[in-house]
Amino acid sequence: MTTIYSARWVLPVSAAAIEHGAVAVEGQRIAGIGPETEIVAKFPGARIESLDEAVILPGLVNAHTHLELTALRGYLEKEEADFFAWLRKLTIARLERMTPDDIRVSAAWGACEAVRAGITCVADASDSGLQSMLALQEVGLRGVVYQESFGPDARLAQENFEKLKIKLRELREQESELVRAGVSPHAPYTVCGPQLELIAELARFEGLPLMMHAAESEAEELLLREGCGAFAEGLARRSIEWKVPRMSTIQYLKQVGILDTQPLLAHCIRVDDNDIETLRATRSTVAHCPKSNAKLGHGRAPFAKFLAAGVLVGLGSDSVASNNTCDILEEARFATLLSRAAGAHVSAEDTLRVATFGGQLSAGAQADLIAVSSSGVHQTPAYDPVATLIFASSGRDVILTVIDGREVYRDGRVTTIDEDRLRARVKEIAANLHG
Ligand SMILES: [Zn+2]
Repeated sequence: MTTIYSARWVLPVSAAAIEHGAVAVEGQRIAGIGPETEIVAKFPGARIESLDEAVILPGLVNAHTHLELTALRGYLEKEEADFFAWLRKLTIARLERMTPDDIRVSAAWGACEAVRAGITCVADASDSGLQSMLALQEVGLRGVVYQESFGPDARLAQENFEKLKIKLRELREQESELVRAGVSPHAPYTVCGPQLELIAELARFEGLPLMMHAAESEAEELLLREGCGAFAEGLARRSIEWKVPRMSTIQYLKQVGILDTQPLLAHCIRVDDNDIETLRATRSTVAHCPKSNAKLGHGRAPFAKFLAAGVLVGLGSDSVASNNTCDILEEARFATLLSRAAGAHVSAEDTLRVATFGGQLSAGAQADLIAVSSSGVHQTPAYDPVATLIFASSGRDVILTVIDGREVYRDGRVTTIDEDRLRARVKEIAANLHG
């Protein structure tokens, strides 16, 4: 069965925009793309879906998120000025106040929000990896679930590493064509050096994708460069000995082998030119999270410099506990404006390429595509579809999300899951957390 999606604009991203274009989908693949009249003639008997005043483009990629924390949207506003207190309240809520089913519901609600915003693929870091993977699969979202690992105390490195391997085994048994398993040593200040070395070696040996928070906050930089600051004091209070590497996060991660895994590194705010060159040379990917970085007051990553240097970059929302929405079009606008505000011109085309992370609409490509309505008052008139997407649209304008050839979001409803039942459960979880 072939379906043809047609719209005023089709943006292959890898090629020029097509006005009055169409995309033909057969099974899990794109069978053809071109002017509507040509595609309709080429696939007689196909089901034709006319989306009219809309833009069809490759699915958006959320390069850094924690869908399991979706129930914590707006829960940590009072702690935002103190990152240490913020992390502690978040950890207590997740580990002590949410059941495994709460976590799965929270992640599924996040997955619904993602597909509603035209996100077809996520890089999701999770402490409860199995629950997150089940949630992604329920909703039909593509992605990698990175099982998190914690442990700042070097004496417990081996023990914590064994715990990670047990969770990872469970996760890998649940892998599917759409959702794969990865590993995520949480951050340089929550995982000690020996544990980072063990996890890097495992990822290399098993060919596992690896994600990590890196160079995010001043407290992290102070701990790594000088052995002082809020994180250092927190470790001292717990009588944890910490060997101060006296270098930047990126150079430290190179030293402990993390950069040998072509990792995905979230934030990368506190990086200098030497670090940027190291990121490029090691083919590390930066998950740029401009809104989360701004909201928590961590600063601004050098997005334009990454692009100019040829560093691989994707856009991440981070968790909605710090953002508060999972919306990559908003993230794209914010990234572009923030760069320009700092005097570095980034084009809408560049940001769109980053937001779709190498995805393209071409014959033979996987059928992950979305349609964004461009008929809104806030989008009219539209002279250029890319500018309309980046500067005048948000995830709320998305009208269709197709993942692996399947319509996961259509006509205002997520088709794969009972959203009303989920909404009721999310409210119940929030009431428990609030009480
Ligand atoms: Zn994060």
